[in-house]
Amino acid sequence: MRKGIIAALAGIVLVLAVLFALRSTTGVEIRLDGSVISDTYEETMEYTQGMTYDALEEQLLSRVQFIEDGTDITAEVRVRGSQEGLVSLGTHELEFVRSDDSVLLHLRVVITDTTPPTLQGTASYTAGTGTSFKAENLDLQVYDNYDIYVLDSVQLSEVDTSRPGTQQATVTISDQSGNTASMDIEVFVRDDAEEAPIGTQVFIQEEPDDLTLLLNATHQLPDGWEPTDLESVTHDGEGTHYLRKEAADAWQKLYEAAKEADISINVVSSFRTQSYQENLFNSYLAVDPDAATYSAAPRTSEHELGLTLDISYDHELHDDLQTSALGRWMSENSYRYGWIVRYPQGKEDVTQYIYEPWHYRYVGVPLATYLHANDLTLEEYYAQRSEEASR
Ligand SMILES: [Zn+2]
Repeated sequence: MRKGIIAALAGIVLVLAVLFALRSTTGVEIRLDGSVISDTYEETMEYTQGMTYDALEEQLLSRVQFIEDGTDITAEVRVRGSQEGLVSLGTHELEFVRSDDSVLLHLRVVITDTTPPTLQGTASYTAGTGTSFKAENLDLQVYDNYDIYVLDSVQLSEVDTSRPGTQQATVTISDQSGNTASMDIEVFVRDDAEEAPIGTQVFIQEEPDDLTLLLNATHQLPDGWEPTDLESVTHDGEGTHYLRKEAADAWQKLYEAAKEADISINVVSSFRTQSYQENLFNSYLAVDPDAATYSAAPRTSEHELGLTLDISYDHELHDDLQTSALGRWMSENSYRYGWIVRYPQGKEDVTQYIYEPWHYRYVGVPLATYLHANDLTLEEYYAQRSEEASR
């Protein structure tokens, strides 16, 4: 009998404890996706390609609701504790504060990467007897939500080419978080066949709207994607040029600041469609087999992003732009407006492009400032992130 009373009392205490824990210390009711939560809460979220802290905050703010005495005060709440740029994997402590700086919600967000990469490509190959068939012979397109260097992990099981016949093999890739994907291939080994040609392996950027996107020979746009928010930009030369809205707005600010400093800027080239880039590349290639060092293959040109301008003090592109008044002003100031020289001098081995002082890329102010301060290219920035993630 007494045991029953104790159990009942314990039950009541437990219920009270739970209610106390849920009771917000500020008297503000907090809801996440419609359900009441306490003022300290942990949430696990999967990383999606190009996820910035800004986007994360926006997403969280769209899911929470703060109610005080029946009044929704969510509009005055902002998030504190996040950083600039892309979100990293792991735990992030965010504070939701109201206008008087009092903390309403401590949110611990754990960003995970449990999504396996995707692996596609040619499944059958032909190779000569006695030749070697290795990973570089594979034609692959890969994608991963977090690890844009997942191509570095390509592994191919051994292919025995000593005798003619059909060989089965397996291709495996693994992202920084250890998620894997694999595909089976067949290699037809024949006496009358040559060595298998070197394949092309590319990482397909599945979130091309990301303003900080890395685009180069191995990191390509998906077929058919084109920006939908193009706007014309102001410049001192002739012709109409287009950029995506955010880049166009940032360009306008840069252009006005340059004007103040008596610098005029001509835009020579800007947004290009996939088919325009295709024709351009093919026309260079027709007369120069090395065209790939200065002209980008379709789906690899930053001009297809709508985030890039080629600029000049007249109507042509100049190697000496950097020593002109325009070039000097741009190198000192462009990052303040979110613009970087995408293919700098001395980084040719990293970017795989010759020095292009005229080619400016919009990446947003936080990233441009970071790259400027640390003398980094986009390739180096993403390689660094990738290294940090694997630590
Ligand atoms: Zn360019």
